[in-house]
Amino acid sequence: MLREHPDFVRVAGYSATEVIKTFDLPQKAVDILTPYWIYVGEPMDNLPFTIYAYCMADYFAGSFVPRHRSHEMSMKMQRRVEENGAQFEFRQEVDKILVKNGRVRGVRTRRGDEIACDYVICGAYPNRAYTQMIEPKSEVPEGAVKFVNGNRLNVCPVSVMLVIEGTPEENGITNYNTFSGETMDTNEIWRNSRNITEPYNFITTVCLNYAVPDCVPEGYTHLSITNLVPVDPFLNVKEEEYYDLKRRLANEMMEEYIKVGGVDFRSRIAEIEVSTPMTISHYVGAWKGSIYGYSHSMDNHVIAKKAMMAEDHFIEGLEFAGAHGVAGDGQGTQITNGRAAAKGVLDAMAKKEAAAK
Ligand SMILES: Cc1cc2nc3c(=O)[nH]c(=O)nc-3n(C[C@H](O)[C@H](O)[C@H](O)COP(=O)(O)OP(=O)(O)OC[C@H]3O[C@@H](n4cnc5c(N)ncnc54)[C@H](O)[C@@H]3O)c2cc1C
Repeated sequence: MLREHPDFVRVAGYSATEVIKTFDLPQKAVDILTPYWIYVGEPMDNLPFTIYAYCMADYFAGSFVPRHRSHEMSMKMQRRVEENGAQFEFRQEVDKILVKNGRVRGVRTRRGDEIACDYVICGAYPNRAYTQMIEPKSEVPEGAVKFVNGNRLNVCPVSVMLVIEGTPEENGITNYNTFSGETMDTNEIWRNSRNITEPYNFITTVCLNYAVPDCVPEGYTHLSITNLVPVDPFLNVKEEEYYDLKRRLANEMMEEYIKVGGVDFRSRIAEIEVSTPMTISHYVGAWKGSIYGYSHSMDNHVIAKKAMMAEDHFIEGLEFAGAHGVAGDGQGTQITNGRAAAKGVLDAMAKKEAAAK
């Protein structure tokens, strides 16, 4: 690393704010570089520059939007994996990971089928695996509990997804992705997004028409408005308050965007869906609705996580792949995390084979 990537090593101990300051850029340029912080979910003062740079490098390299949403990407990967001989079982929730003497011995599905195996790559969060899935519970090592308690959950999305009558231009939308808000001070945005009583002061809005013009019938606009927030304020929402809360948040977020676009499109909404951390948790089982895994912060740095990988491995044959992996969140990053999990299995198999010889 020192020989081939000296700049990587040089900035590893510093936050995004600290490194950006050294460039002596005008404030306007800093403000233009800052909004992407939301896609890694930690204020710039506490966000490791390594993670910020990794995210920005992806953007500078250019981006791709799948024609049939990101689900298309998953379907294509599934096809490729099947061509390589694997089998997919949809609608089969794994209820338990069966462990004996510190080694995986199989899984039990929600339906009750037991499948014997030596290796499991788990997409569910370690929080769920170690607290609800490992059977028997006595096989959960103390270190695993410390690991989940020591990792802070990253942000969860609150989204308003809309189909609106009229073209994007008629609805005041002129870009694929617009970040908007009252301030670019991420500490202030963080303070605001930690509560659900005041309107969100920072949102990211995507109009899919600009990437996939035929994503909706001609003359309609496809729009999503999102904020990414810590889950804590949602944990105390009562069932009877939930739908009112969703409606209020959606309305406030639309109002926030309308300030930018200048067109009040609310009377032309053809379809609307509102999602909160509860929605994500309900539909994909992500722990407390976190889509970004664990936070990357200065006191829980990706390089420290990488260095601790062997120590943070608790049950033989059990690997994890998902946003909760070392590389963190995002669709591309999941391939990196998946590859690391596959390598974990292959290394363990090679070790076992070598020991048997
Ligand atoms: C609205 C929204 C917009 C986003 N936009 C972007 C974007 O533009 N770019 C980007 O890079 N990222 C984006 N993301 C984030 C990205 O989608 C996530 O970081 C990524 O999908 C996380 O991958 P994962 O494998 O951890 O979880 P998931 O993609 O949620 O996959 C986990 C899978 O495991 C399954 N599962 C869970 N538990 C079990 C069990 N016990 N048994 C069987 N199956 C189980 C779930 O059903 C699910 O299919 C967005 C996310 C959201 C919600």
